[in-house]
Amino acid sequence: MFPFNNSFDFKIEIPEEIEAFRSTIREFSEKYLAPIVNKVEETNEIDEDVFKKAIELGLVGVGIPPEYDGQGGGSLMMAVMIEEISRFLPAFATAIAVNHLFAYPVLAFGSEEQRRKYVTKIAKGEAFAAHANTEPGAGSDVAGIQTTARKEGNKWVINGRKLFITGANRADFLVVSARTSPPPSSKERWKGLSLFIVEKGMPGLKVTSRINTMGLRGEQPYEVILDNVEVPAENIVGEEGNAFKAIVSTYDHGRIGIAAQAVGIMQGLLERTLDYTAMRNAFGRPILSFEAIAFKIADMLINLEAARLLTYWAATLMDKGSKDAIMAASLAKTFATEAAEKASINAIKMHGGYGVVRETGIERSLRDTMITEIYEGANDIQRLTIIRSLVKKRFGVSVDLT
Ligand SMILES: Cc1cc2nc3c(=O)[nH]c(=O)nc-3n(C[C@H](O)[C@H](O)[C@H](O)COP(=O)(O)OP(=O)(O)OC[C@H]3O[C@@H](n4cnc5c(N)ncnc54)[C@H](O)[C@@H]3O)c2cc1C
Repeated sequence: MFPFNNSFDFKIEIPEEIEAFRSTIREFSEKYLAPIVNKVEETNEIDEDVFKKAIELGLVGVGIPPEYDGQGGGSLMMAVMIEEISRFLPAFATAIAVNHLFAYPVLAFGSEEQRRKYVTKIAKGEAFAAHANTEPGAGSDVAGIQTTARKEGNKWVINGRKLFITGANRADFLVVSARTSPPPSSKERWKGLSLFIVEKGMPGLKVTSRINTMGLRGEQPYEVILDNVEVPAENIVGEEGNAFKAIVSTYDHGRIGIAAQAVGIMQGLLERTLDYTAMRNAFGRPILSFEAIAFKIADMLINLEAARLLTYWAATLMDKGSKDAIMAASLAKTFATEAAEKASINAIKMHGGYGVVRETGIERSLRDTMITEIYEGANDIQRLTIIRSLVKKRFGVSVDLT
């Protein structure tokens, strides 16, 4: 079973409430998302009404414990929600899930006051949040960030520039990473980082240019400038200088959602491509009856179900608190997103000329999928996580592969 312990590690149990929840999200997606897909593509905006509906249904509170006014549920519930939304509009899944890149580190590492003050508002949809870590010069290399925070009396003063920040345009609260002390040595670059809660309207915080990306139209990231932003001392999340763990464990959780996003994209593609190839005739017969087409569809299903199983499995391990969840999340994210890329390319081919027409929405899947392979840890960074975990388990040593 190496690198896992035994067969029980592979047990996936889906409680009934998750299936009932799936039906609710499916209904929401079919009713409110499916009809707006082309409009979102054209305008690059998602209507406020859709957010309002999602808030009414409690979707923003999923994954937040009831004691902080959330709906409860863990990684599995979140994965099912993201999957069902992404079947039609992956950008909306990103818009909702990004709140958790704020809520997770505050819940896991923040103070009780911070949880009450900020997370409860997010859970009720009274506030939106964002997570600002990436910078022009550092993405995968979290320890390479240049933003600084210096202590002045009972305040922290933050200076820096963050890039690719999803939801920054509507965020009432942002969790921002900054260096508060230089790394003690080149081998301990991860030391000296801290996380801060910055509120909209604080002087010096500017959400500047919108970054036009190839996919996830409707939910584009932004540049954020922090110019001498003063935050109260109590806005530090967790221990000063020790935020690296909080940042990377946020992504360990978040990337199961990205795997689920890829599963949702593939689910949508499979259904649409199957229907299209059964209806489209060439040489007097449905193109589905050509083996070259039929086998591509069979491969789509093989990859879809393998990706779904990996995703539910990683989510189950995460919800059980297993240490192996981190490796499982990397396996699921890498496999699912790369399978979705392959499915998107094949779906375009099977739709022929219509596959590259924007209004049909097939080529959109490829554009959305490419982003899933990059954010929350690019796939080759996942491969590093996987190999590090393997070496550690086999030989008991940590290796630095960067
Ligand atoms: C649409 C979108 C939304 C985003 N939203 C957010 C957000 O809300 N908040 C936020 O903080 N960030 C966000 N990001 C940023 C995202 O997390 C980063 O783009 C991602 O982590 C990769 O960082 P990078 O772009 O700096 O690429 P780099 O780190 O420069 O990587 C470039 C390439 O080099 C490879 N590479 C780097 N190091 C290694 C290595 N050691 N070994 C092998 N290969 C390596 C990578 O795999 C990648 O292929 C978003 C990005 C996008 C595109």
